Amino acid sequence: MSTQVELVDISSPSLPTSDTDRPPIERAKIQESFRRAQFRWSHVDWIVLIWMLVMHVGAIAAAFFVEWKSVIAAIALHWLTCSVGVCLAYHRCLSHDSFRLAGPVRFFVTLCGVLSGQGSPLMWAATHRVHHSRSDRDGDPHSPREGFWWSHLLWLFVRRTPAERQRLYHVFAPDLVQDRMLQFFERTYSFWLVSFGGLLFWLGGWSLLLWGGCLRIVVGYHTTWLINSASHVWGYRNYETSDGSRNLWWAGLLAYGEGWHNNHHAWPREACYGHRWWELDLTWQTIRILKLVGLATQVVQKSPPASLPHR
Ligand SMILES: [Zn+2]
Ligand SMILES: [Zn+2]
Repeated sequence: MSTQVELVDISSPSLPTSDTDRPPIERAKIQESFRRAQFRWSHVDWIVLIWMLVMHVGAIAAAFFVEWKSVIAAIALHWLTCSVGVCLAYHRCLSHDSFRLAGPVRFFVTLCGVLSGQGSPLMWAATHRVHHSRSDRDGDPHSPREGFWWSHLLWLFVRRTPAERQRLYHVFAPDLVQDRMLQFFERTYSFWLVSFGGLLFWLGGWSLLLWGGCLRIVVGYHTTWLINSASHVWGYRNYETSDGSRNLWWAGLLAYGEGWHNNHHAWPREACYGHRWWELDLTWQTIRILKLVGLATQVVQKSPPASLPHR
């Protein structure tokens, strides 16, 4: 039994106006630029590559600077930057417009996303929308059909010029590109990351910098990247979607609910990703609290079909 036809009304709003306002050729050109076949060594983003190397070396070095305060700080910051910052703000709020947040809260949670080191909010959201527009087909920025490691991290090393980034934003995130807060973070992204690193060092020396900075960021990278790689390869499917998305329980736990990825691809705007009682979605719990106290509104909660075709 397929639920594909029931999903149409809720999947399209993830790209609010780009389908109608922009010529398809522009979208196709951008999608084409994400193909692995387009990759050239001359297109390597060396800044991203060196940053990744430094973060991973720092994460390994953390083993030699163990202090319990730093370990607790790393766990708390992982939740704050990955669950609140990336899953709640970057993904569900900005990329999919699953709910609206009060101004100061929206700023704070987006800042948490910035401190995850996963790119500016505009870049993250626009690229993620390209993924949804071409999931597991040519033009998907990170499909494991082009190689597991490509989908996990290699796709990140493709350099994009400022003009290419702007074109990507205007075509895939026309509703976000004029947002003053997002433009502010676009200009100040590096400043926040470097300043936060300095703050950690000032507060707790090398131990806090390596645990709360490098190791926390690296663990956050891999738990997020697993959604692009592992959750399109392993796991079960609740819905018959046209892509290879899967629900992977351990990715669901590690990535604060994002691992119920087949549910998400089937219902992209739905704010809650756990559709069966045992599909725990920790990020949804935070959204529920924000909704309860009136800080999150217009929460998209279109209930999935009562009986899921389990596959
Ligand atoms: Zn996906
Ligand atoms: Zn998504």
